[in-house]
Amino acid sequence: MILITGGAGFIGSHTAVALLNAGYEIGILDNLSNSKYESIRRIKQLTEKECPFFEIDLLDYLALDRIFCENKIDSVIHFAGFKAVGESVSKPLEYYHNNITGTLNLCRIMREHNVKKLVFSSSATVYGLAKVVPVTEDMPISATNPYGSTKLMIENILNDLFVSDNDWSIALLRYFNPIGAHKSGILGENPNGIPNNLMPRICNVVNGKMDKLTIWGTDYATHDGTGVRDYIHVLDLADGHIAALNKCNKDKGIFTYNLGTGIGYSVFDLINTFARVNNVNIPYDVCPRRPGDVASLYADCSKAEKEMSWKAKLGLEDMCADSYKFVKKNPKGYEDSK
Ligand code: NAD
Ligand code: UDP
Repeated sequence: MILITGGAGFIGSHTAVALLNAGYEIGILDNLSNSKYESIRRIKQLTEKECPFFEIDLLDYLALDRIFCENKIDSVIHFAGFKAVGESVSKPLEYYHNNITGTLNLCRIMREHNVKKLVFSSSATVYGLAKVVPVTEDMPISATNPYGSTKLMIENILNDLFVSDNDWSIALLRYFNPIGAHKSGILGENPNGIPNNLMPRICNVVNGKMDKLTIWGTDYATHDGTGVRDYIHVLDLADGHIAALNKCNKDKGIFTYNLGTGIGYSVFDLINTFARVNNVNIPYDVCPRRPGDVASLYADCSKAEKEMSWKAKLGLEDMCADSYKFVKKNPKGYEDSK
């Protein structure tokens, strides 16, 4: 069984569907701190397959150990963690405790049970205020907030773990900006509270939860003055995890891969594409830059293509159409289903 921690969340749920559809046996572990049981129900609905769900907190060492005692787990994809940059600044201790202690518990128990294949959700945030784009995996890494520090620390912890025991196979996947949703409109991003990221905010504007979008800065040295990012469809990202798992099944080592499309799009590119593809209006105001933002961050993904034969296939239009389809079908997120 492949254990998916955080499998009820946005990226984990899409990866669970991809794995079930590809015939893998999986188990999902989540404490539902940032997700709903409804996403587990929808994973089963979409795949017409069953998989066990463990409602467990990674901080609960004994409960986690029991899962490993009672199931034949041979690898882990580890998504579980807190992920809001702004919240991490106001709640650093909660972020360090959840993300770091949760990962330490997981790795200690994996070692005890001789499970040594791990795919970890890192982030492009580890490139900090990158000066050169596109970024390659060997560029210097740093953190600009507690959330980013947890990713950096976990990458270091996993590197040290591999140095201590070369029997491990670990993939560190640095995601760029995941957006989009399942093509059915049944599974998507279901953020709690007011989201900070651009696509969920665009979705809030088009479904009337927000009056208008705020564009944070039009004076960057980019093609239209707004920030440039590497948006990647969550379905491509899900496939990237299957590729990483295959790599871990084949080779021992610790491997780091950028997962993006390699193309940088600006805030205006995203807004205009979304408006055109979905035939909607997106009113906006222009405000000063958001502190801590870089002008431009996009990936060089050639290493993932070369070593894992993985490459993103879906473009910005698919991402915009699929994000909107989910929002239209689920204007109140997963709460609609009740
Ligand atoms: P998400 O919040 O939707 O999913 C994370 C899941 O982990 C949630 O379902 C939450 O309930 C669960 N969880 C959190 N702490 C837990 C704990 N202690 N025990 C058990 N479950 C716990 O987030 P996502 O967007 O799917 O992101 C998944 C991973 O990818 C995270 O580690 C995130 O930091 C990383 N990542 C996300 C993005 C992004 O923009 N979405 C970008 C780069 C990296
Ligand atoms: N952004 C914006 N308005 C918003 C949210 C984001 O102008 O309401 C901009 C932000 O400044 C950045 C880009 O959109 O240039 C992507 O931001 P997001 O938070 O989605 O991703 P990140 O900056 O963490 O890569």
